[in-house]
Amino acid sequence: MELFYRSTRNENVMLTASEAILKGLSDEGGLFVPEYIPKLPVPLADLAGMDYQETAYVVMKQFLTDFTEEELRGCIRAAYDDKFDNEEIAPIAKVDGVYYLELFHGPTIAFKDMALSILPHLMTTAARKHHVTDEIVILTATSGDTGKAALAGFADVEGTRIIVFYPKGGVSDVQRLQMVTQKGDNTAVIAIHGNFDEAQSGVKKMFEDERLKAELQKAGFRFSSANSINIGRLVPQIVYYVHAYGCLLKHEEIQEGEAVNVVVPTGNFGNILAAYFAKQMGVPIAKLICASNENKVLFDFFETGTYDKNREFILTESPSMDILISSNLERLIYLISGRNEAKNRELMKELNENGRYGINGKMKAELSDFAAGYASADEMKKAIRDTYENTGYVMDTHTAVAAAVYEAYRRDSNDPAKTIIASTASPYKFAESVLNAIRPGEYEGQEGIALADELSRISGTEIPKAVEEIRNAEIRHTRECDAQEMEAAVKEILGLR
Ligand SMILES: *Cc1c(COP(=O)(O)O)cnc(C)c1O
Repeated sequence: MELFYRSTRNENVMLTASEAILKGLSDEGGLFVPEYIPKLPVPLADLAGMDYQETAYVVMKQFLTDFTEEELRGCIRAAYDDKFDNEEIAPIAKVDGVYYLELFHGPTIAFKDMALSILPHLMTTAARKHHVTDEIVILTATSGDTGKAALAGFADVEGTRIIVFYPKGGVSDVQRLQMVTQKGDNTAVIAIHGNFDEAQSGVKKMFEDERLKAELQKAGFRFSSANSINIGRLVPQIVYYVHAYGCLLKHEEIQEGEAVNVVVPTGNFGNILAAYFAKQMGVPIAKLICASNENKVLFDFFETGTYDKNREFILTESPSMDILISSNLERLIYLISGRNEAKNRELMKELNENGRYGINGKMKAELSDFAAGYASADEMKKAIRDTYENTGYVMDTHTAVAAAVYEAYRRDSNDPAKTIIASTASPYKFAESVLNAIRPGEYEGQEGIALADELSRISGTEIPKAVEEIRNAEIRHTRECDAQEMEAAVKEILGLR
């Protein structure tokens, strides 16, 4: 049976999966949501016998019904291969009785790889299905992790180009080096003289510019987005929650049907929404615990039922969670309103105009699957230090926010359910913050890349290939521009005029 996708803001929109992936965002600004959430097509016990790739097929086939078996298996094979430094793709580390689901074994050592290594293949397959002959130009503004993961995913993928803008001086040492050393003839990386918001606005402006769109089309190009609102990023993220449940069964850590909690360090609400979808598919998940850093707009929302972005933006040491507009929350709002697109549209309009909205009691009651917490900088650092001292395990700053939130949750709730923590980045990506949490003050002022050996020594782990590579790699991208010149830079790269 074909599963169609609806817009959260327009009930007349109905697309197939491949159309939704190609389009990214609905014309009126809505996000695509499947008409219903399909059930797992196999008994839970079967999950224990499946490797990551097989689980990926079984889960994704339920959502991407207009992809043939051959197409989907081809995408999965191309994505989850030896680019990952662990055969299990998303291995689980049991530390102090908690399961860390390590989502950072891909080419750029952050969880964005889990989806961005397959999105390019889904997109080019979708383009072929619809006889799109234009070259697809991916435009991305990044504050660090997404840009590199998208570059790595789209590098040398036939029929695509990728152009990434990052704020000069606004990303970590390792993040910058990862991007400017990116290989691939179809890649371009540009430092803009401005902040992330300016980069983001510049990209949005190009997406909305009809004149530019026409000009591109004449030259055989079309823009697309690798942003986390694309359903082609959400669906692959459901896989690792299903697979993790199978792994725990296989290793007899849980009984069949036993419900587990999931804790997710959250920014744009994409990763935790995938866990919610896994639960709806039938994976026995008890609580979905949403962990925020000091930008705790989501914690406040779950506490009060009011989403309010009118507050100070705080720069933290978990920068990938420094977000005040969690775009994927719109999908949850739509679902808990009973798929009422008019209600959702009204709330999103309020968010747009006043920066805040409130949900009614009935909608709030639908949120009982969720718990929420937040961690201060000190709590985050304490989680890294305590876990290291007790067990030797070293986690990154984002994962540590989740670990700190979980510890407080367990203390306050006495909830005995076994718990999975989504571990979203390798500690090597934030080595300076991680080492300073373990030995306060000792590494002050040292750059992340220079601290890889020290981190390797104290954690007893190998330096990931992704870090090894950039230590001596050739710098390939040196382009810079003002925020006002972004369009001119894109045209120059594409050889227009
Ligand atoms: C993107 C990111 C997050 C936040 O994920 P969302 O899907 O935006 O909630 C958390 N940790 C790391 C390391 C990330 O890169």
